[in-house]
Amino acid sequence: MFHYCPSCASPNIRFEREKLFRCPDCGFIYYHNIAAATGCVINTEKGIILLVRAKEPALGKLDLPGGFVNPGEGALDGLRRECLEEIGWDPGPKVSLFASFPNTYPYKDIIYRTCDLFFSLWAPDLTEGDLRLDPEEIGGVRFFKPGEICLEDLAFDSTRRAVTAFLEQK
Ligand SMILES: [Zn+2]
Repeated sequence: MFHYCPSCASPNIRFEREKLFRCPDCGFIYYHNIAAATGCVINTEKGIILLVRAKEPALGKLDLPGGFVNPGEGALDGLRRECLEEIGWDPGPKVSLFASFPNTYPYKDIIYRTCDLFFSLWAPDLTEGDLRLDPEEIGGVRFFKPGEICLEDLAFDSTRRAVTAFLEQK
């Protein structure tokens, strides 16, 4: 990510231990820490809600509602904000954390390493009519019964593991 030290412009800056940039010439250190991200399995009578991604990475693939946690937010705050932004619907505070997996998220030539937190919610009566999709981010919404989900159509490794874990816990 850095070819030169942002502090002294030395070309000797190194990326170490999968997480930090260190400049041997001036002592500059920058931790490229993992980012926290969330996803929500919203389970309804019609099945699990999956969203069609309208943006890279993984354009056209299926993903759970959710996204990166912002500075100053807790994971649940971030999840509820992302759901409001993406589908115009607030899952509320009564979601349950059921799994967490690491993920890699490539965006504009930088690979972000994340810790994804997955929540679930039983919302039997929720239908597409209750949702207001953000067309910039979301190309459509689909409801899937457990046997209908093709894991290869899911956007990310962590999403595949989360959906699998959710289905196995039932
Ligand atoms: Zn330096």
